[in-house]
Amino acid sequence: MSHTRNIVILTGAGLSAESGIATFRGPGGLWEGHRVEDVCTPEALARDPELVHRFYDARRARLAEVAPNAAHVALARLDAEWPGQLLIVTQNVDDLHERAGANRLLHMHGELKSALCAACGDSAEWEDSLPPEIECPNCGTPALRPDIVFFGEMPYHMEVIETALSDADLFVSIGTSGAVYPAAGFVQTARHHGAQTLELNLDPSAGSSLFGESRLGPAGTLVPEWVAEMLDRG
Ligand code: NAD
Ligand code: ZN
Repeated sequence: MSHTRNIVILTGAGLSAESGIATFRGPGGLWEGHRVEDVCTPEALARDPELVHRFYDARRARLAEVAPNAAHVALARLDAEWPGQLLIVTQNVDDLHERAGANRLLHMHGELKSALCAACGDSAEWEDSLPPEIECPNCGTPALRPDIVFFGEMPYHMEVIETALSDADLFVSIGTSGAVYPAAGFVQTARHHGAQTLELNLDPSAGSSLFGESRLGPAGTLVPEWVAEMLDRG
């Protein structure tokens, strides 16, 4: 990877697992005890807004009890020190990348600490709970929802991400099961444009065979090792 300049890094729930945030499909395929279709679809929000809001309120409150781990810290260091282009694309809705100091970061699936108005489309930083009846600070309509990309909705920043993938020399996927599209297809886009590809994950992901190299283990160990290699070579 001696000629690597442009790096795109995709991160998923596995990156935050060692910080104590549960990954998506825990025991029995449930996310924190809920079926995914009951808490992260537009239909669920329409059917039972109280449940969906309560679920994300609990996830948001949990952020105050957790801290970035060695993997977030190493990626923030790479972001600060890497002289070429770099983009961290996270599927995570937690705020651990930014709390570790990462700047070149996009949240493609939204953020817990943001509220989105279904009436005017405005989004606002949100720290506390988000009752369904609360009014939008911009337009006054009681239509605020968690700023989370639900299944069936379009992820954020796709144009910028596609451009970065087509310019990448190296694509690295960390702590993601490769089950959720379009993120699961990024490895193919990057390869198609000639990038080298590396996966760092606890278990082989669904798309493991698509990567040029796979390293298996916990992100808190693998990511600092990989970042040290990159900065030594750069
Ligand atoms: P996922 O739960 O489907 O997959 C997690 C992957 O991480 C698995 O392949 C697992 O083997 C791996 N893993 C677990 N512990 C690890 C560790 N210590 N080190 C390295 N890898 C580890 O998660 P996903 O692919 O990110 O997709 C889930 C969706 O759920 C995302 O869209 C995301 O928005 C949402 N989600 C977010 C969070 C969060 O923000 N922290 C948490 C759960 C789910
Ligand atoms: Zn509004």
